[in-house]
Amino acid sequence: MSSQENERLTPKLSSPPSLGWVIVWDLDNTIVGEYSDQRSTTADELVLNPKAVDLLRRIVDARDKDIISANLLLTNNADYFFVKVVELTLAMKFKKNHYRVVFDSIMTRNHPSRVKSDDPPKSLKDIEYMLKEQGLPIDNLAQRVIFIDDKATHLIRNEIPSGHYIQVTPPFVRGGEDRTDYGILEKILESTKGGGKHRRLHLKTKRVRHGKRNLKTRKH
Ligand SMILES: [Mg+2]
Repeated sequence: MSSQENERLTPKLSSPPSLGWVIVWDLDNTIVGEYSDQRSTTADELVLNPKAVDLLRRIVDARDKDIISANLLLTNNADYFFVKVVELTLAMKFKKNHYRVVFDSIMTRNHPSRVKSDDPPKSLKDIEYMLKEQGLPIDNLAQRVIFIDDKATHLIRNEIPSGHYIQVTPPFVRGGEDRTDYGILEKILESTKGGGKHRRLHLKTKRVRHGKRNLKTRKH
């Protein structure tokens, strides 16, 4: 194995990539337990993956743009109503004294920029599109993406370092157990924890950033 290849397989976390990590989530069988395309679902009927919910909560809590610059939902579900039910259910769960944005951008299967198919490929260009739409930088993107999906074979697998592709195993279903190794994502979330003076400084600037983020995402 060449040293370059070795580098690809062992992402280093000693310092976050400049511009921050971009976390990209699948929906069906990753965050929710059922394939629910084109089916009306109420918040009461939703089956959520507790492990994914815990990670999403910690991502929303971290909201530190220096380390995580975006949390995105890239789904091959085409039922925008269902997707919204999930998003709002999560937002309500994570709510403190105000509404909190869970996903900076959402792209469904029927988005005009995607390949017309029942199961279109997911690739870096989709993520690039979402970030551009939010006015977020796309530099060095392949190195900054962490992709979480129960499917093993999305195109993006060949576009990002292999340790950045987290395959949900087994695909999450109602009553099922999530035995996924979320290794790199856990490490990133650990690295967002600060303490003392440093933390207070971050909290000061965070409020301003939240304001901006809310304004940007309101157009959805
Ligand atoms: Mg899936």
